[in-house]
Amino acid sequence: MTGAIDIGGTKIAVGVVDRNGRVLAKTECATDPGRGFDRAMQRIVELLAQSASRAGVKLTGIGIGCTGPVDPLTGLVGNVSFLPGWEGGNPVGVLSAEFKVPAAMENDADAAALGEAVWGAGRGKARLICVTIGTGIGGGVILEGRIYRGVAQCHPEIGHHIIDPLGPLCSCGARGCWESLACGPSMVEWIKTNAPTNYNLQDLTAREICAQAQQGDEWAKRAVEREGYYLGVGLANLVTMFAPDALVLGGSVMKSASLFLARIHEVIRHNCRLVPYERVEISVASLGPDVGLIGAAQVWHHRFSPSGGPTS
Ligand SMILES: [Zn+2]
Repeated sequence: MTGAIDIGGTKIAVGVVDRNGRVLAKTECATDPGRGFDRAMQRIVELLAQSASRAGVKLTGIGIGCTGPVDPLTGLVGNVSFLPGWEGGNPVGVLSAEFKVPAAMENDADAAALGEAVWGAGRGKARLICVTIGTGIGGGVILEGRIYRGVAQCHPEIGHHIIDPLGPLCSCGARGCWESLACGPSMVEWIKTNAPTNYNLQDLTAREICAQAQQGDEWAKRAVEREGYYLGVGLANLVTMFAPDALVLGGSVMKSASLFLARIHEVIRHNCRLVPYERVEISVASLGPDVGLIGAAQVWHHRFSPSGGPTS
């Protein structure tokens, strides 16, 4: 039984996950990063003890997914914009000492990719890229069943590969990153910039745009078309560079996947003629809202139990 912790910028989910990826108990609290790392760890310890007790299990390990950058081998939190003041904190050290079991941590996008690779839509795929499209674009790359790491064990930032060097300024400082063109908020920005002044922009969100598009709203349909195009361009680049067995697409924007998939396939067909793109399976993530917890649990299996890894 694995304790699972999913640390995001706004909330922390805590739960217990069995060896088949089923969530047996879960709870959550606000991250409230301003109250500091130590207070957050206290809350996590309390919630995890409660979850284990409610599930009636003894924990054999703890897996953590954390918004990054984090160092997966030392367990240290890096300079994370969503977690100001947490740099240098070590959730792995705190939790393994407290519960006296081994713990492991990965960037949350890698955790989600591992979860989908073993227990979700990417099951059985040795070369898999899991992309999460929401307020940003993140992703995890699994090659031959293992998380791909870069220099200094870093997590590749696929959301920040540049699609249009003259495009909008991205939060990372570069221009025209995939994220800046194709994340959920970029759909809202595009409508704000392009729709006529009498267009109702109040409380406009990516979800609302998708709903409006389904009802035939012309500007929403154009925003959806543009979104599908830019998603397609970024995914086509991944297909050309990695030629993976599968792409798994998750995140809040992909709740409306049916609006985008045809356009995505069209762009990939057009852009990826040098690799067998037609054999790259494209599917929607299947673990649902618990993907963070389930992925965090798989982080533990991936680190400590080779038989639990994606190639099993
Ligand atoms: Zn960027």
